[in-house]
Amino acid sequence: MDTLLEDRWLRDRDLFKEAVEALGAEVEIIAANGDDALQMTQAEKLIQSGIDLLVIVPHNAEATAAIVHKAHRAGIKVIAYDRLVKNADLDMYASFDNEQVGEMQAKAITALVPKGNYVFIGGAITDNNAHLLKKGVFNILRPYIERGDIQIVYDQWTKDWNPVNAKANMEEAIRATNGQIDAVIAANDATAGGVIQALTANGLAGKVPVAGQDADLSGVQRIVAGTQNMTVYKPIHMLTESVAELAVKMAKGEQVSTDRKVYNGKVEVPSKLITPITVNKHNIDRTIISDGFHSYEDVYSST
Ligand code: BGC
Repeated sequence: MDTLLEDRWLRDRDLFKEAVEALGAEVEIIAANGDDALQMTQAEKLIQSGIDLLVIVPHNAEATAAIVHKAHRAGIKVIAYDRLVKNADLDMYASFDNEQVGEMQAKAITALVPKGNYVFIGGAITDNNAHLLKKGVFNILRPYIERGDIQIVYDQWTKDWNPVNAKANMEEAIRATNGQIDAVIAANDATAGGVIQALTANGLAGKVPVAGQDADLSGVQRIVAGTQNMTVYKPIHMLTESVAELAVKMAKGEQVSTDRKVYNGKVEVPSKLITPITVNKHNIDRTIISDGFHSYEDVYSST
């Protein structure tokens, strides 16, 4: 794994372990804390230890191509989990539809703010998902921009998806525009948290709609509190269960079939993309709470 810093990855780790073990296989899980060199040595150690299959959440979409190459030399197939590995003979890719995540964010925010100054706080430039999300956001914003209804007053990536960097970027956006901001689309709930800290310090929290993704507990609590407008819920168990099933079959050398293919710059990778779900204050209960993703008490405890 790249990192265990955000809520979602802890859940990915735990549910994946559970799903693999339920199929009678064993799994070892290691995280690289955003360090490319460390992710490489961790993968090398696993490959040398005689694993049957490698599942990777890449920190860097390009750098991890070397890991796929090394695994293949040892006869081990590789599945990219949630994030694509670019320019490699990758065997399988499973994720949510990340372009759709961006489209859902922009649809929700343009419905509230059809005209005005928009800030886009992107994800990590090294993560293919950040590019897909941005593409989705601009698929929706483009006609508004072309009509002159929406102006993009600030657009920046967030190094390593770190909320501290997102906060600094948002502060810069506020300074550069004298606070003339009508809406913010942030690439996930962690970066939205940084954005909202900067808005709070400038008396703008709750006045400027903010979008995020992941349905992190803190993000959902901010939706209840009114400082964040929406998030995108990705039922992680659907991803862990489907990757566990694919992984165990592939490790046994069985054929697997998928309905999609995604080009990674080198090959058409057999892929599985799961549809995400828009969440706002009106449907929290019938999505993430009824699904058991968060408890009612946790979500509403801060109110
Ligand atoms: C994932 C998001 C996550 C982000 C930061 C992306 O690749 O799709 O769910 O918030 O990485 O970890």
